[in-house]
Amino acid sequence: MKPSDKALVPFVSVDHMMQLIHHIGVQDMLRGLAGYIEDDFKRWERFDKTPRIASHSAEGVIELMPTSDGETYGFKYVNGHPKNMAEGLQTVTAFGLLADVDTGYPVLLTEMTMLTALRTAATSAVVARALAPKGAKTMAMIGNGAQSEFQSIAMQAIAGVSEVRLYDIDPAATAKCAANLAGSGLKVTACKTAEDAIEGAQILTTCTADKAYATILTDNMVGAGVHINAIGGDCPGKTEIAPAILKRGDIFVEYPPQTRIEGDIQQLADDHPVTEIWQVLSGQAQGRTSDKQITIFDSVGFAIEDFSALRFVRDRIEGTPYFHPLDLLADPNDPRDLYGMLNRAHP
Ligand code: NAD
Repeated sequence: MKPSDKALVPFVSVDHMMQLIHHIGVQDMLRGLAGYIEDDFKRWERFDKTPRIASHSAEGVIELMPTSDGETYGFKYVNGHPKNMAEGLQTVTAFGLLADVDTGYPVLLTEMTMLTALRTAATSAVVARALAPKGAKTMAMIGNGAQSEFQSIAMQAIAGVSEVRLYDIDPAATAKCAANLAGSGLKVTACKTAEDAIEGAQILTTCTADKAYATILTDNMVGAGVHINAIGGDCPGKTEIAPAILKRGDIFVEYPPQTRIEGDIQQLADDHPVTEIWQVLSGQAQGRTSDKQITIFDSVGFAIEDFSALRFVRDRIEGTPYFHPLDLLADPNDPRDLYGMLNRAHP
């Protein structure tokens, strides 16, 4: 006997996710995600929140990121393994699930490697739109790996950026990023040093991967009146920004209990002042207050952004062929007769 339609859960594979992104268009998908993320940041207080549950090893980390708004529950499984890239594997790979709180039944299972890159970029751009200096047009993109094109295109689609200046310690990564961005409408400049990349840029994005206290931006490199979008310092012992810059700037974070463990601010005292970005987006706290100010988004990636992305995908796959119905839920004739269901399936 075949399971009834009621018991089937939509599953979005990597292939289907890519088809969905092309169907919607990368820029429109980033704008759509940004809208869902901004909506959820504005109702931040309604969510269950917990720092992600991390399992660290010498080479990386595997994390679970759960949250719920009382009606819907979501989680993401994600890893971060900087050494993977050298072995031809992804640094970050993920999948996620959305469930109905009322019944506990899953309503969506999806790949989230692509989706994480999109939601991270959309979040960066939502924050840059709120905090970057007025009229910011040029972004330095330091670290030209898997996230970098998404970061660049989101800043173009959402935050008004028209030029990106690329730098990576590996010139092949910069060449790849520049080639992928050709035809995007962005002016793309490949740079030989990080100093060169930040020349004339009002938004400085750091998106490198190294399980170390790295210093991608040193104090003398950063002048007044810029917005720093710090993406790669997202794990204990893994940072990108010199503490002196953090002390000169105003720091904006997603969820302080998680960012204090994982973000660049792990280098600062536990009580160093930070502003929660949801408060800026909902008008409860000030963002940029002067042209000279250095604003820093110490991004680590929070469960609510994944929840927003999962909601977006659930809504957008409806009526499309971009999912498989997955037989994930037991469906006995009598809910107490699970054994009977096993008998039912006897060949
Ligand atoms: P990736 O491995 O594909 O790319 C990282 C790039 O950084 C590589 O090209 C590498 O050569 C370059 N790099 C390393 N050290 C450098 C240095 N000192 N200067 C310049 N470039 C350097 O990784 P990815 O998937 O693009 O992810 C980048 C980072 O973003 C990772 O640290 C990842 O954990 C983090 N990340 C954060 C979030 C978030 O929400 N904040 C989400 C996804 C990924």
